[in-house]
Amino acid sequence: MRAAVLPGYASALEIRDLPVPEPGPGQVLVRVAGTGLCHSDLHLSTGELQLLPSLPWVLGHEICGYVEAYGPVGGGSAGAPTATGPLEHGTPVAVFGGWGCGACRVCVSGEEQLCSVTSWVGIGRPGGFAEYVLVPAVRHLVPLGDLDPITSAPLTDAALTPYRAVKKVLANLVPGTTVVVIGAGGLGQYAVQLLRELCSARLVVVEPDADRCAVATALGADLAISPEQVEDAGLATSAAAVIDLVGSAAPLALAGALAAPRAQVVIVGLGGGSLATGFLSPAAEVVVGSSFWGSRTELAEVVALAQRGRLTTRVHEVDLAGAEHAMRDLEAGKVDGRIVLVP
Ligand SMILES: [Zn+2]
Ligand SMILES: [Zn+2]
Repeated sequence: MRAAVLPGYASALEIRDLPVPEPGPGQVLVRVAGTGLCHSDLHLSTGELQLLPSLPWVLGHEICGYVEAYGPVGGGSAGAPTATGPLEHGTPVAVFGGWGCGACRVCVSGEEQLCSVTSWVGIGRPGGFAEYVLVPAVRHLVPLGDLDPITSAPLTDAALTPYRAVKKVLANLVPGTTVVVIGAGGLGQYAVQLLRELCSARLVVVEPDADRCAVATALGADLAISPEQVEDAGLATSAAAVIDLVGSAAPLALAGALAAPRAQVVIVGLGGGSLATGFLSPAAEVVVGSSFWGSRTELAEVVALAQRGRLTTRVHEVDLAGAEHAMRDLEAGKVDGRIVLVP
C-alpha cells in the first residue's frame, strides 16, 4: 500500500510502498478515505513531542474510512476463517484514535484516551497517512451514516477535542455569561460552532489573525478580536469560562486575566505553557485544568451533531503524494481550514 512515511525526525515525508497490514484476532482493517493533517503531526515529526515508538513512522490520527476486513476468529492461525463483525464490509466509519489497554480503570470507564498505555493511532501505532490502517478493536469505530468519510476526518480530533473542552464548561455558561475561546484555527472554528450550538453565552474569540477572526464571526462568535484589543474591550475578569486552544505562555496569562470568579480555564493547546494558580490569582475560586482529546462516546456525539448538519469544516483535500508539501504549508500557517490527505 502507498504510505507517506516519516523517515526520521525533522525529515521530509516520503511516499513508500508498505505491506497491507493483516488484522489479527479481534482487529479490524480499515481502508482509509481521508486523514486530517494536524498541528500535532508537526510537533511529532520534529521530535518536539517525543512520542513515536520508532522511525521510520506513519503519522495520522484523524482518520475516517471503510471497514475492509476483520481478523480471524480464535487463535488467529493464518488461513483461519475471517470473522464478520458488527459493521459490514464497506461501512463508512470514523476511527476513534485514543486507543488504550482496554482493561484498566480509565479504559473500562470509557475514557481510553487517558490510558497510561499510549498506543494511540498515528502516535503509538501506525497511522492514517496510508491506504489502510489496522484498528485493534471494532469498539474504536463509529459509523458515519450518510456523512462523507473524507470531509468527516477532522471530526475525530479537530472537532472532538474542543467538544470535550466545551462539555467541561457548559454548566457555567448560563444566559448572560461570557465564554472566551483563545485561537480560531482548525480547533477554534469547531469550538465556536459547538458553543453556538450548545449554549447561549456571549461568545468572544481572541485571535491575532484578522482573516480567522472574520471566519469566527461568520461561524457565530459575537466578538472576535486580537489579543491587543482585549484590554479596550473591558473583558478582564469577565469570562465564566476560557478555553485556550493555543496553550503557550502569553495566551495562558491572558486566560488567567479574563477568568471571572468561579470561572473555569481549560487548557487544550499543546503550546507548552503553564498558568500559575494560587489563592490570590487568578480571580477567586477559578478552576484551571486541561482537556485531552475526547472519548469514544464523545466522538459518537460529535458525529451525531455533524449528521444533523450542525458542524461545517473548510476541508482541503490533498492527495497523499502532497503530504510533505501540506506539512510545510501548515508549518507556515498558510492553511485556512483543515487539510485532509486522501490516499
Ligand atoms: Zn491532532
Ligand atoms: Zn487502559
